[in-house]
Amino acid sequence: MQVPAYVEYEKATSVQHALSLLAKFGPEAKVLAGGHSLIPMMKLRLAQPETLIDINGLADLSYLTVVRGELRIGAMTRHAQLLDSAAAGQHFAILHDAERVVADPIVRLWGTIGGSLCQADPSEDLSAAFAALKANMVIATLDGERTVPARDFHTGPYETVVAPGELLTAIRIPIRPGGGSAYEKVGRRVGDWPVAAAGAAVWLDGDTITEAGIGLTAVGAEHFSSAAAEEFLRGAPATEATFARAGQIAAEHCRPASDQRGPADYKRHLAGELTIRALRRAARRARGGSG
Ligand SMILES: Cc1cc2nc3c(=O)[nH]c(=O)nc-3n(C[C@H](O)[C@H](O)[C@H](O)COP(=O)(O)OP(=O)(O)OC[C@H]3O[C@@H](n4cnc5c(N)ncnc54)[C@H](O)[C@@H]3O)c2cc1C
Repeated sequence: MQVPAYVEYEKATSVQHALSLLAKFGPEAKVLAGGHSLIPMMKLRLAQPETLIDINGLADLSYLTVVRGELRIGAMTRHAQLLDSAAAGQHFAILHDAERVVADPIVRLWGTIGGSLCQADPSEDLSAAFAALKANMVIATLDGERTVPARDFHTGPYETVVAPGELLTAIRIPIRPGGGSAYEKVGRRVGDWPVAAAGAAVWLDGDTITEAGIGLTAVGAEHFSSAAAEEFLRGAPATEATFARAGQIAAEHCRPASDQRGPADYKRHLAGELTIRALRRAARRARGGSG
């Protein structure tokens, strides 16, 4: 039987209380959100915090709302809430596409958006979706808060800019007219982590792409994105030929590793093909189409 090491437990009653507890117990304390990643890691002794700060009581971090031209998502919002949110689906269909294929309903009911991002698994679906949308992450400290672009949030596998003593509190995505977005994933079976996945967000003026975001996961893409493909897309016509070239660029710029989910060349092929499919669907949605 896998049993975690002895750990102290504290239940936070507010964001300020959670931050005080983090300051009190120092770098060996860890935040407990849904626990779907942290608890298995503790059982395997890959994580051995001295104190768990449980933030499940922080109802004020569980929300999805449109404020001042942004979709705002509290860090304690569960995957299932994001999937249920009409506002999220209306403005950013990519989030619903991605949530439909994150794990299974049990994980989605309790796993949180903040926990997924802070876990920083290199195969995390939402990291690619938020990278495509160029979201911003709000991080609270005892001294106030700071905002970090999604692309600066992850500093490496299982590492983020959230320092000991800090708390991710929200994700904010600017809503701009003329946009469409989509997410495409290939997994070995339903509910599994991706072999590879790609997200696309495009903004159109007529048939011209004025702005684009490409998110990639599980393929070793820098910052879960493809800056080179985005640069190529900006100002280009929204055509099949453009999408094909963008897919080629995205595939060239990622660095997948061969593992139990497949060989590197297969993942590279998927990165390109899934980018093309996501772009095609994102552009259709930007033009007002569905599906
Ligand atoms: C069976 C299974 C299948 C899965 N499949 C997929 C999949 O297909 N795709 C996918 O993307 N994910 C998948 N996941 C991952 C799942 O989405 C995450 O494990 C889960 O949502 C993480 O969120 P959590 O709330 O459980 O985080 P926790 O496990 O509680 O925390 C994870 C880490 O983040 C830290 N943390 C949490 N919240 C905060 C915060 N607000 N501020 C600072 N630090 C914080 C914790 O200290 C910990 O280090 C799967 C997980 C399981 C168990």
